[in-house]
Amino acid sequence: MFSADVLNRFDLNGPRYTSYPTADRFTATFQAEDYARALQTMQHRRASLYVHVPFCRSLCHYCACNKIISKSTTVANEYLVTLTQETALISDTVPELPIAQLAFGGGTPNFLTIEQLSRLMADLSSKFELLGEREQSIELDPRYLDAAYVSALPAMGFNRVSYGVQDFDERVQTLIHRSQSFEQTAQAVRAARDSGIPSISFDLVYGLPIQSRETFAATLERTLSLEPDRLALFNYAHIPERFKAQRRIPTHTLPTIELRTELFLYATERLVDAGYVAIGLDHFAKPSDSLAQALSAGTLRRNFQGYSTHQSTDLIGLGVSAISNLNGVFSQNSPQLDVYRERIESGEFATVRGFALTHDDQVRAAVIEQIMCMGSVNWAAIAQVFAIDCETYFSAERKALAQFVAEGIVTLDDSQLVVTPRGRLLLRAVAMVFDAHLPLKREQTITFSRIA
Ligand code: SF4
Repeated sequence: MFSADVLNRFDLNGPRYTSYPTADRFTATFQAEDYARALQTMQHRRASLYVHVPFCRSLCHYCACNKIISKSTTVANEYLVTLTQETALISDTVPELPIAQLAFGGGTPNFLTIEQLSRLMADLSSKFELLGEREQSIELDPRYLDAAYVSALPAMGFNRVSYGVQDFDERVQTLIHRSQSFEQTAQAVRAARDSGIPSISFDLVYGLPIQSRETFAATLERTLSLEPDRLALFNYAHIPERFKAQRRIPTHTLPTIELRTELFLYATERLVDAGYVAIGLDHFAKPSDSLAQALSAGTLRRNFQGYSTHQSTDLIGLGVSAISNLNGVFSQNSPQLDVYRERIESGEFATVRGFALTHDDQVRAAVIEQIMCMGSVNWAAIAQVFAIDCETYFSAERKALAQFVAEGIVTLDDSQLVVTPRGRLLLRAVAMVFDAHLPLKREQTITFSRIA
């Protein structure tokens, strides 16, 4: 365990590096025509699709996602029409692109009715070549779910479900405005198992109001009793000046940095003790899960959905605020529903900002991805791929890492950089050493959101 002084000196709250550069570096100089050009020249290789469903039925006060609160299902019908127009624009540019991974996130994807979801799937099948062995996942809110909904998913190709849990403690749930009984979650898990869905994942959040070691330990025990295949343990970042919903959470109810660290370390120890494998920054998986297998095979990847087993580097994001990453560029759709709709209806992509990676960005992206996924960097492999001399190229970074070596956070020699087991807590801080965009003014960007 590090002292409070060490934890305060090294930045625990750095970016989660689901991309490099991080999304706050995207600029408005990158526009729709740049995205169209990147699509036109992309190789016809396996890609991933992400579909953003922005609607939620009620507002969680910790939320940092791009969402629209609504109770109407007609808004979803209108949204599906626009999504269909967007998929047409893409398939006109790259016809029948093979898709190896398809993910639905939000918002709340199960805001869509089964009929709406199946219509959307039919549209995607007609525009892309959805590969038979693809991984297909959906984030589900157990509060608005029944067994009939879950049982309809496998026929549409879904083989992974992710349930938002956050915390089972009722007092915590009241303060974050998300009442979700243990029984609701347990029923959702049973429904997925009964339907033959092979992989169930939970999202938990630590750092929420009035969480204590005791309350979080109880949440973990209840979680373990349901035996999820994967677990994500997100760190709540309170940024009320940026996320309006968070203003309803009184700051004085939040755990201190020392307590948050204790919660994370306790949870890690308990989950590993229960047989889960710690994956990168904040994920855990059963040894039989493909994420754990990818970790041991050295093939784990990082993208906007977190950790991934897929080697495909091209990601196409569909929907309001969605981010695409392909052919060396990032492109983000407008986060405003009316702007997104107008742009797509007028026959152009809804890009409002993005980023074209330089060679240096690509080198650093590879180093940071290795740190976040494997907790190590093999200098010879980086040197070979990018034709650089790592010792010279990263001489400033190697100097900066001396303090990390002194504190036992990493070991460093001419062949590799390795994050120590106790240094895992500071993975983001190690990655930040290689972030060339950090000296520019950065707001605190870390959130539990998958698109941060
Ligand atoms: S946390 Fe999830 S369910 Fe809650 S408002 Fe945000 S996106 Fe919707």
